[in-house]
Amino acid sequence: MDKNEKHKIKAQKQKQKVDANVAKAQIERGIMLVITGKGKGKSTAGFGTVCRAVGHGYKAAVVQFIKGKWDCGERDLLEQHGVPFAVMGTGFTWETQNRETDIAAAENVWQQAKKFLADPDIHLVLLDEMTYMLGYDYLNKDEVLSAIANRPENQSVVVTGRGAITELKDMADTVSEIKDVKHAFREGIKARKGVDW
Ligand code: ATP
Ligand code: MG
Repeated sequence: MDKNEKHKIKAQKQKQKVDANVAKAQIERGIMLVITGKGKGKSTAGFGTVCRAVGHGYKAAVVQFIKGKWDCGERDLLEQHGVPFAVMGTGFTWETQNRETDIAAAENVWQQAKKFLADPDIHLVLLDEMTYMLGYDYLNKDEVLSAIANRPENQSVVVTGRGAITELKDMADTVSEIKDVKHAFREGIKARKGVDW
């Protein structure tokens, strides 16, 4: 058997396996994704998913916890496409250095997040950097988890941020942990507009 024939047989077998797995997946509902870990790419993956939804003509909404002080390229683009943003806008905790105002800001933006999570017209909600709100106890864990669990059946939700608590990972359908192999910043390269924000 020559190389090309071998390749064809292998590919046919693989196709059978893939087709069988595709046929097995029959459930249609929105999913919960958690993108966590110390590597770069969590928020960009979340925003990439928002772009997919918007590209298909679906409604999507974004909630940015922690960040929002810098002008964010995704926000400028997506708002032009009708995507509402709720932004905590306080910056990192080591910048604000004020737990009380951080908590008030978190609760404020959470009220908007809850509205998105209750709206059946919204296909996808991105809760960017939400992991920290539970890690630091800024928001009530039970309230957040039940708002996510009770969202409309066809709505998907993406949660990003480092250190996702076990409960978040347990209730998610898909969990990806992005590993930090290396990062340009540690080589002294400045964060770049259009790449890092
Ligand atoms: P991105 O927004 O680029 O997808 P991220 O969401 O995975 O990154 P965050 O922890 O939210 O990462 O941090 C956001 C900013 O910090 C970005 O500018 C990103 O390049 C930078 N960053 C992310 N991971 C690392 C890392 N391991 N070391 C240094 N800087 C990082
Ligand atoms: Mg991020």
